[in-house]
Amino acid sequence: MRRTLLNARILTMDTTCREIERGWIALEDDQIVALGEGEPEPVADEVRQDMGGDLLMPGMVNTHAHLPMTLFRGLGEDVDDRLFRYILPLERALVTAEVVEVGARLAVAESIRGGVTTVADMYYFEDRIGAILDAAGMRGVVGQTLADFAAPDHDSMDEGFARLDALADLYAGHPRITASAAPHAPYSTGLEVMSRVAQWAADHPGLPVQMHLAETHAELDWAANTHGCTTVEVTDRAGLLGPALVAAHVMYPTEGDIALLAERGVGVAHNARSNGKAGRGIAPVTALRAAGVPVGLASDGPMSGNTLDLFAQMGPASMFQKIAGGSRKPLPCIDVLRMATIEAARVLGMDDRIGSLEPGKQADIVRVSLDDPRLHPIYDLASALVFAALPSDVRGTMVAGRWLMEDREISTLDTGKALADALQVAEGFKAHIIEIDKTKT
Ligand SMILES: [Zn+2]
Repeated sequence: MRRTLLNARILTMDTTCREIERGWIALEDDQIVALGEGEPEPVADEVRQDMGGDLLMPGMVNTHAHLPMTLFRGLGEDVDDRLFRYILPLERALVTAEVVEVGARLAVAESIRGGVTTVADMYYFEDRIGAILDAAGMRGVVGQTLADFAAPDHDSMDEGFARLDALADLYAGHPRITASAAPHAPYSTGLEVMSRVAQWAADHPGLPVQMHLAETHAELDWAANTHGCTTVEVTDRAGLLGPALVAAHVMYPTEGDIALLAERGVGVAHNARSNGKAGRGIAPVTALRAAGVPVGLASDGPMSGNTLDLFAQMGPASMFQKIAGGSRKPLPCIDVLRMATIEAARVLGMDDRIGSLEPGKQADIVRVSLDDPRLHPIYDLASALVFAALPSDVRGTMVAGRWLMEDREISTLDTGKALADALQVAEGFKAHIIEIDKTKT
């Protein structure tokens, strides 16, 4: 059956970033079949839905997250060693598959309410996270973490790889959920494990690999001292640099590293807010993109980035490049929107299916209300979206032709229960934090 969304302002994010002042989008099943200006020709048995002049834009694509870490949101915000003081002990003591599910449900509710339709996640118990994304109707890449530190869901690397294989089997052929390997970082896996992941990726074409890369100075020192080269070069030696790799952060690449990333077709997930809050500096997004490396926006985990929507990322991403360049010109608003949609889809290897509103693509669509006085007048729609819009302006979120949220009501998940369950888990965390603070000063 054909459904037509009409009376809409449309931002396509196709190759010309075409904008339609007043137009329509026709859908069949999970796909966009046509779009245009003005009034569409009537079609037999068609269902029409009036968008009331709201904006329709592609669903946003979050290229790097740790969804269950909603449960750690803002914890130890200004404490430099919070990872070792709080997070790792809490994860070891209290993070079970059930806790992961509770955190992921809150994260999925937040993502849908913020207009995110696809999210790339790396954490533990990813089979459970995939199930929650699937039940809520979202699209996701679920990455089994592999690391040499104690992980909540595996005791040895062999066990980690067994979980990864099971994950790949579980979601083989799934229309919306894609399994992925997620080696934590070069320094926390090492050359041997990275090589093993590279082999796994070669055996599983089409499945992405996600890894933190060139994120900290300590990582650069590890590469220099252990291998006598850059961390990007170590990753290349392992055979892991390729189009399947989604490299998160990439804060400190050398010029040679940037050329290598471009040559190998690596995509980068840029986490502006979490990088800024950690005092890490400004990632060379402008140089990466100029070299031809696709860069997608990302939230990082809510412990580091606080929120999972991409509206919160767009302003900082743009501002940081302008600060670094000493000018208004770097990273214009329309490029920021690309990095939240079509370019992010390319980072995940999904730009043939999602990231823009075009016939033949999946109907992953966000309906944004432009009613708020804060947004007007609009001389430049991209500027309004990047610097003035908020996640609460999202009125509806559709994935694969199905509204997951309309009039800010999510129909595929009990938002109230998701929040109540998360608050209950947080009570347990708070008790544990008090104990930690008693033993450490
Ligand atoms: Zn991360």
